[in-house]
Amino acid sequence: MAFEEKLVKKLAANGFDVRIAANAAEAGNIARTEIRNNAPTSISFGDSMTLYAAGTIDWLRTQTEFPLIDTFEKGVPFRELIERRRQALVCHTFLTGVNAISASDGSLHWLDMIGNRIAPIAFGPRKVILVAGRNKICTTPEEASRRIRETAAPLNVKRHEGMKTPCAITGKCADCSSPDRICNERLILHKCHPKGRITLILIDEVLGL
Ligand code: SF4
Repeated sequence: MAFEEKLVKKLAANGFDVRIAANAAEAGNIARTEIRNNAPTSISFGDSMTLYAAGTIDWLRTQTEFPLIDTFEKGVPFRELIERRRQALVCHTFLTGVNAISASDGSLHWLDMIGNRIAPIAFGPRKVILVAGRNKICTTPEEASRRIRETAAPLNVKRHEGMKTPCAITGKCADCSSPDRICNERLILHKCHPKGRITLILIDEVLGL
């Protein structure tokens, strides 16, 4: 099932550089080409299961062309990873996923715990590359908000062992005040400014949370 032309046109009209991939592997190829075309002086990424599925994170960790700020490197102390996340705010090229896309207005939606994923999307890096499976597409901004709170957040909590939030137990959001709460910050991009700064790769598969 291809993406609706109306959705692609709406996103493009909002200034996003939209690419279409049939599957995760093709999305990985598009991301690599886009990275090489931008010749980044530094590169970093935010947590995204879709980026992992596309093979992009494995590739970033093994390539030697571009300096990588790896903010999730295993074995590195947490404080050092936080410092790297600060540096990543002003890296040249930043990659991550999307929590939800509203088809009615072509807006992009995220929730985040500490902001290291959403802050560089909004400002800082010269280039941002996003990947999104077709399951991220919602009809309206309201549905997108609901999706990230009722679907993405509880499933993301489950990925992280030891998080004691109500949704970790029930699978449902209780708008909690837990210290482990992962829904502390919200980002909505109505338009891409400057136009084309963000490349959005839509993948015709169910990927990520
Ligand atoms: S607000 Fe709390 S309960 Fe609701 S999804 Fe976020 S972490 Fe889970």
